[in-house]
Amino acid sequence: MSNNEKSGSLDIFRVAAAVLVIMIHTSPLENISADADFFLTRILARVAVPFFFTVTGMFTNFGRPRKTLIKLSGMYLLVTALYIPFGIISGYFKGFTFWKAVRMLLFDGYFYHLWYFPACILGIIIVHFLKKTTAKKALIIAALLYLLGLLGDGYYGLAAGVPPLKAFYGALFNVFSYTRNGLFFAPIFLLLGSNIGRLEFNGKNAAAGGIVSFALMTAEAFILRQFKLPRHDSMYIFLVPSAFFLIAFLKTLKARQRPVLRKLSMWVYIIHPAVIIALRGASKIISNDFFEKRALLLFVLTTLCSVGFALFAAYAALTFGKLRGALCSPRARTWAEIDAEALRSNAEYLQSLCPENSRLMAVVKANAYGHGAVLTARELNKVGIRAFCTATAAEGAELRRHGVKGEILVLGYTHPPQFPLLKFFGLSQTVVDHDYAKTLNGYGKFHVHIGVDTGMRRLGIRSENYSEIKRIFEMKNLKVDGMFTHLSSDETTAPSDRAFTEKQAEKFFGTADKLAADGHFPKLHLLASCGLLNYPHLGGDYVRAGIALYGGVEREGLTPVLSLKTRVTSVRNVYGGEPVGYGLDCAANGNMRVAALAVGYADGLPRALSDGVGAVLINGKRAPMIGKICMDQTIVDVTEIDVKQGDIAVIIGNSGRERITVFDIARQAGTIPNDILSGLGSRVVRVIK
Ligand SMILES: *Cc1c(COP(=O)(O)O)cnc(C)c1O
Repeated sequence: MSNNEKSGSLDIFRVAAAVLVIMIHTSPLENISADADFFLTRILARVAVPFFFTVTGMFTNFGRPRKTLIKLSGMYLLVTALYIPFGIISGYFKGFTFWKAVRMLLFDGYFYHLWYFPACILGIIIVHFLKKTTAKKALIIAALLYLLGLLGDGYYGLAAGVPPLKAFYGALFNVFSYTRNGLFFAPIFLLLGSNIGRLEFNGKNAAAGGIVSFALMTAEAFILRQFKLPRHDSMYIFLVPSAFFLIAFLKTLKARQRPVLRKLSMWVYIIHPAVIIALRGASKIISNDFFEKRALLLFVLTTLCSVGFALFAAYAALTFGKLRGALCSPRARTWAEIDAEALRSNAEYLQSLCPENSRLMAVVKANAYGHGAVLTARELNKVGIRAFCTATAAEGAELRRHGVKGEILVLGYTHPPQFPLLKFFGLSQTVVDHDYAKTLNGYGKFHVHIGVDTGMRRLGIRSENYSEIKRIFEMKNLKVDGMFTHLSSDETTAPSDRAFTEKQAEKFFGTADKLAADGHFPKLHLLASCGLLNYPHLGGDYVRAGIALYGGVEREGLTPVLSLKTRVTSVRNVYGGEPVGYGLDCAANGNMRVAALAVGYADGLPRALSDGVGAVLINGKRAPMIGKICMDQTIVDVTEIDVKQGDIAVIIGNSGRERITVFDIARQAGTIPNDILSGLGSRVVRVIK
C-alpha cells in the first residue's frame, strides 16, 4: 500500500491534533486541577505539533522543496496579515522595531501559533541540505540540533548552571525567543517523517512503543517540573519517540483518505486564536473575568466555533478547487499535446547546424505557432535558449509575465500607445523604417534591432539607404543591439532562389561592413528555419528559427512537436440516402455508423477538409470526415471502427500504426504547416505530453 492509501488515519488524527493545540491555548482544566491541566496541556498536547511536522515530512519532496516552500510562505504571509488587526487590538505592536519584525517573521512567528510556519520553512530548508549527506549523518545532525534545543527549553536549568552555556543561550535568545523553532525543533521530526513512509510497522509493536515512550515522557516532564529546570515546556527527550510511534501506529490503521479533514485541521489551527480573542472580548459584556473561572467552557466554545468555521472554509476551498480543476481539465474536449522531448531534440539539432558562434533565437510568435507560447518558451528556457522573437509587444509581455528569461525581440511594428510595454517588460523593438526610429527616439529609451530590407519589401530600411541606417546609431535614446534582414526565397536551393538569396546576403553584409568601418558592430542575423537548413554558410550571430523548431519542416533530424486530439461525443446509425450534416449534398450511400467529434473550424480545423477530404484516427483506424465541418463539431464515418462516446480521435499524430501529419493536412487544405498550426484556436488546450 502506498503512503497515500494509508494516510486516512493520519487525516483523522490531524483534527484531534488541532484540538490538542486549542487545549494548549485555553488550559481547560486550569480551574479543576493544576496537575491535570499540566498533564493535558504541557505533556499530552505537546505531541500535536511534532505530529504536524512529521506528517509534513512524509509528504514533502526534500530534493525539490521549492513548491512546498512557496506555498507555505504564501500561506504564512496571508495568515500573518489576517492576524494583524488582532495584534493591533491586543497591543502586540507597541514598541515594535524593524529588528523585532525580522525576528518575528523569520523565527518567532506572530501570535500564539504562527511560529509553526517559519519553523516549517526553515526546517524544510535544513532537511533539504541534510539530505545531501548520508541518512545516518543527517539523523545525527538533526538529533544534535534537537539536543541543543532541549538545553534551551525543557532542560534550560542545566545550561543555566554552566556559565559559557548560559552565555551561549543568552546570545541565542537575542535572535529568537525560544529554541522551539525551525532550527532546533522542526528538523528531527521532518526528517523522521521523510523516512517513515518507507518503513513497515507492526501495529502492536508500534502501540507498545508509543505507550512506553509517552509514559517516559510524562515522568520526564514531571521530574523536570519538580526540579524547576524548564525555561519553556515544549521539548522533551521522549517527545521524539512518542511522535514517531504515534505515526507508526496510525500508519498501521487502514482508512480511506479524507482531504477535507486535512483542510479542516489546518483551518482550526489557523483560526482558533481569533476565536479565543473574540470569545474573551464578548465575555467582557458579562464580567471581566468570566472565562478566568470557566476555562473548560472557553475550550469547548473555542473548539465548536473553530470547527464550525473551519468546516465552512474547508468545504468552500474544496468546492472551489474542484471547479478550478474542472475548468483546467486539459483532455476534456480538444487539446494539443506538446512533446517537450521532441522540442528539445529539435532545438539541439538546429543548434548543431548553426554556424560557429551563432546562437538560436527561438521564434515563438503567434502563440508559438499554435503550440502555446508560454509553455514552449519555458521548455526552451530549460534547455538553455536565451533569446526569443515575438510578432507583437503584447506577446512579449505575456512571456515576461510568466517568467520567461532572456532577450525578447519584437519583430513587428508596435503602435506608440503600446511603447510602455517595451520599456516595462524589457523588450527589444524592431526598427521597421527610418521614420519609426525617430518616433521611438522621441518617446524614450529603447533597445532596438534595425530591420534591413534586402528584397522582402515588407519591413526594414532599404539597404541602399545606408545614411538612414547609420543615423539610427546617432539617435541618443536608441540602443542598437542588433541588425537583421529576412530572406524571402530561402525555401529551395533552385538556381534562381539561390541567386536571389545570395544577393540579399550580399546587401546585408555590405551594410554591416560599412557600419563596421564607421565603428558600429551590431549583432547580425538573417537566417530563419529554411535559411539555416539550406544556406547555413551565410552565418550571423543569431538564427531566428521558428517552424523548424516545431518539426514543421520535413527534414531528417526534426520531429513534429504537436499532436492534436479530440473526443468522440456521440455515435449513431445513419440509413441509406439520409443527408449528414449541414445541407443536403452529403447523403449516406448505404447504412452506416457516424461519430460526432468535439472539434470544428473554430478550433482551427480547416473547413477545406470537409466532404471526405480529411480524416481522423480512432483506435488505430482511419475515419474519413463526412459532410461539412461545423464551427465546433465534425462528423466522421466510423462504420468500420469499434468506437464509443468519450474515445479519443487523433487529428494530428499517431494512433496504433496509423499516422496523420500536419503536412498531410496542409496539403489537403492547400496551404503550409505554419498556417494550420498557428491557426489552432484559443479553445484548444495546450498540454505538455
Ligand atoms: C516568422 C519569422 C521568422 C521565423 O521563420 P521560420 O520560417 O518559421 O523559421 C524569422 N524572422 C522573421 C522576421 C519572421 O517574421
